[in-house]
Amino acid sequence: MTGRALKAALRRMPEFRPGHVWLIGAGPGDPGLLTLHALAGIEQADVLVHDALVSPCILDLARPDARLVFAGKRGGRPSAKQADIAAQLVTLARQGNRVVRLKGGDPYVFGRTGEEVLALAEHGIPFRVIPGITSGLASLTAALIPATQRGVNHAIVLATGHAGGDAETPTIDWTALARLGQPIVLYMAVSRLAAIVGELLAGGLSAETPAAVIAEATTPCQRVLVSTLARLPEELAREGLVSPAIVVVGEIVAMRSRLLALLPELAEAAPWQHAV
Ligand code: SAH
Repeated sequence: MTGRALKAALRRMPEFRPGHVWLIGAGPGDPGLLTLHALAGIEQADVLVHDALVSPCILDLARPDARLVFAGKRGGRPSAKQADIAAQLVTLARQGNRVVRLKGGDPYVFGRTGEEVLALAEHGIPFRVIPGITSGLASLTAALIPATQRGVNHAIVLATGHAGGDAETPTIDWTALARLGQPIVLYMAVSRLAAIVGELLAGGLSAETPAAVIAEATTPCQRVLVSTLARLPEELAREGLVSPAIVVVGEIVAMRSRLLALLPELAEAAPWQHAV
């Protein structure tokens, strides 16, 4: 896509100076959901340090001569590597590169960007953080589930289901979250789902609360499983949805079935990754 409007908009983007680091949110998957700032940064980068969750078609947007460095950490291995990533960003910037640190979703949502920007600031490296569409919200939208709906909820909770390996942060009081009575969106929750569901039920959420899993949202492999809170872990295991996936618990989920009952072909409408 090389439209006139896109080119004109990209010309107005800030210049990427050598020795600077841009920490960029790549959105949930579909390159059509990148921001123009993200695209401008990716196009100008000399080096891109990226995570596992950034789709190959987004990495393809980098210059052919740009260097790609994989810095993925999957499966909750110890975080000692985090310091290495920050040190690598500092080194690459000091060498005079335009460095992009590319992450799935939004950089600051369960993305460990806080630690990286602190390290950059401590070493006097100039940086920008470019927001991205976080997968927790994009997955809902892509599954026809409104994050907020008049008459249904006044708040929404974004939580991680994988709180291990971080001894300094207080663990989540799931029963307290259950008592809030507001929808809960869970990142990284698939492997601990049965335990989390048990605690939410113990906290007073009804077993019949609508719940869903949205896997590989906004990619051609997107899958949506709708169930109830009590049945979700078992159905998830049976249906075999794979990570990355978002779990959502709350009455907002019911909207999807209402829409599909009215217009069944909406279920087929998955235009993802055909946008660019
Ligand atoms: N910074 C990211 C989150 C990183 S944590 C963001 O803002 O989205 C990684 C978790 O994000 C995954 O375990 C999964 O829960 C979620 N995730 C990322 N991409 C996803 C996608 N395309 N579909 C569903 N969940 C996704």
